[in-house]
Amino acid sequence: LAVEGVRGLRPYQPGKPIDELARELGLNEADIVKLASNENPLGPSPKALDAIRNELADLTRYPDGAGFELKKALCEALDIRPEQITLGNGSSDILDFITRVFVNDGDEIVVSQHAFAIYGLVAKMVGANTIEVPARNFGHDLEAMASAVTEKTRIVFITNPNNPTGTWLTKTELVRFMDQVPQRVLVLLDEAYFEYVDEAEYPNGLRLLEQYPNLVVTRTFSKAYGLASLRVGYGVSSPEIADLLNRVRPPFNVDSFALAAAKATLTDTDYVSRSVAENNAGMKRLVEAFHALNLSHIPSVGNFVCFKVPTGVNAMDVYQGLLQRGVIVRPVANYEMPEYLRVSIGTSAENEVFVAALTAVLS
Ligand code: PMP
Repeated sequence: LAVEGVRGLRPYQPGKPIDELARELGLNEADIVKLASNENPLGPSPKALDAIRNELADLTRYPDGAGFELKKALCEALDIRPEQITLGNGSSDILDFITRVFVNDGDEIVVSQHAFAIYGLVAKMVGANTIEVPARNFGHDLEAMASAVTEKTRIVFITNPNNPTGTWLTKTELVRFMDQVPQRVLVLLDEAYFEYVDEAEYPNGLRLLEQYPNLVVTRTFSKAYGLASLRVGYGVSSPEIADLLNRVRPPFNVDSFALAAAKATLTDTDYVSRSVAENNAGMKRLVEAFHALNLSHIPSVGNFVCFKVPTGVNAMDVYQGLLQRGVIVRPVANYEMPEYLRVSIGTSAENEVFVAALTAVLS
């Protein structure tokens, strides 16, 4: 009885849950190191926890369906206007909305090879075809992506930086691409890892919105803001597009804990800087370890990095070997990278456990 196409969907594969592995290994959850889902290893901001405690005082009322306070805080922090914002239950929600609003059965979306799996999934849900453009050096080949646009293309998905490869695009590259793409085609610029990037040429997508009315930028509180479990993200676009996205947004899609915690973390600049600094130090440590182990990796500006297993070694065996030692990383074979594993940057203690386990597995 299912709608045509649904049976063909391959569900999104999340990282293996901590409690599941702890049960399998007969360990405590505290002994498991999960570096599989690009979460913030520092835990949430103390200000977010305070905000959540406050919200406990009233569980019976619906949350603010318009998200007034959070939107106000976003406007102050990001220099945007409330009518440009669509709040999502995670930024994945926005990817779903934009596809439902703009993509019909038989239309096309364009993505890069090694792109985040959800784009293809939401497109398939509405019966659209995904055109996957081969990557260049694991990053987006924007020239080829622009050339892949046809009469049927409705959305091009760009991820900057990209997950799972950690590659990034410069402002010059992005602007050239936006100039090539016809304005009837939407460009969804996914900036889930925006806060981690510290490169002079890295563009802030929000500053391109005035110039390109076909651009939609998404960001999330799941990564540098440490609130993945609460599910809150947002889209920023022209007011016209935001109005359409908000029409398909379910009422109360972001709960009161998420709204309050997101607002509190947004202004906790100490927490975000600490998170980014820890990430930079952890990235340096892992890259050093890859060198020491003679493993190549894909240089990444996110809070994760992909490394290549040695020739003749099966990445799934390395993954399993790490699991046996209580370390969860992410296989990326379904991202067409069968020789790689992706590891999220952890705390310094977690990074050491990972390095020791990897060393043991490979020896
Ligand atoms: N975009 C990218 C590139 C991601 O890596 C993720 C999370 N893995 C998301 C979007 C979705 O994150 P969320 O729904 O938690 O905001």
